Amino acid sequence: MKSWIPRNGKPYIISGPCSAESEEQMLTIARELQNSGVVQAFRAGVWKPRTRPNAFEGHGALALEWMATVKRETGMQTATEVANGQHVEAALKAGVDVLWIGARTTVNPFSVQEIADALQGVKMPVMVKNPINPDLQLWVGALERISRAGIEQIAAIHRGFSWFEKTPFRNDPKWEFPIELKRLFPELEIICDPSHIAGTRDLLQMISQKALDLNFSGLMIESHHDPENALSDARQQITPKVLIGMLNTLQVRSATSDDAFFLNRLEQLRNSIDQIDEELMQKLAARMALVDEIGDYKRENNVTIYQVERWREILRTRLEWSQSLGLDEAFIRELLQSIHKASIVRQTKVMNQADTRKD
Ligand code: PEP
Ligand code: MN
Repeated sequence: MKSWIPRNGKPYIISGPCSAESEEQMLTIARELQNSGVVQAFRAGVWKPRTRPNAFEGHGALALEWMATVKRETGMQTATEVANGQHVEAALKAGVDVLWIGARTTVNPFSVQEIADALQGVKMPVMVKNPINPDLQLWVGALERISRAGIEQIAAIHRGFSWFEKTPFRNDPKWEFPIELKRLFPELEIICDPSHIAGTRDLLQMISQKALDLNFSGLMIESHHDPENALSDARQQITPKVLIGMLNTLQVRSATSDDAFFLNRLEQLRNSIDQIDEELMQKLAARMALVDEIGDYKRENNVTIYQVERWREILRTRLEWSQSLGLDEAFIRELLQSIHKASIVRQTKVMNQADTRKD
């Protein structure tokens, strides 16, 4: 898996609507994107994998004709999602330039293999989104299947992962996955899809900047001339104008000094630390929510907040766990004491509040 995206100091930008809705819609969006001069490829979903039935599932073959119109009228490269061998054949026949495999397809090795078989002997860029679940091996396996079909221009697309805990994201980014993928395949192009990570417009800028800071090769961001009325993913789409404005605010850090490699690695490590800290905060918040729940429960059952046996057990088990993880005992003891203290303050509040409510 070799680098193939030209490095001219700028990220490779793919944009366009989540779904191809009409020829007019596609041309309106594509013309604006093309005029900006910063978007290299136009995306639109022709076949839409929807979580629930009866949602808009795309116009299929008809939309492929609109893709061809966009290509002819604007000269832009076109990209769409394929989920089976027939999609590949139809897209190739319609002259689509770039294909991608969606998150719901990457999870299924049968489907990925079928796509790989249909790509035998074809020369074109193929991008593989991460699977919806946080499973690196599935992602790697799909990339390998496409690579073995003879495709040389391969990219991975990071679009975040379904996660059982509540996070600010539609799909939790779990940046450690693309970071590990890049460690395994240093030459592999990785493109970030902030739209499907975010789920809402307000997070797009932050995620895009983070991806660039992690040295991603490019960004795939959904844009629509009338986002509110989009037939799919309305909440995360932005107008081409807003997109261009946002892209202009992004800092592309060029590694020009002699120790570029060192700086880059340092940046990656710091970003990993940011990610872990964010997760620590989420875990602490989840823990505190449980503390509140227990507070309520104790109150209902007229039980004291502080229970020495439980606290002893917490200290003993956690210190054992931390020791086996090579963590400093004094540090962990202090950390646990601090968490315990904050938990007691919180439960006291819960009890008092409940008391006031009752009065
Ligand atoms: C899409 O790109 O519109 C899409 C369906 O994405 P994903 O496969 O990441 O959910
Ligand atoms: Mn979408």
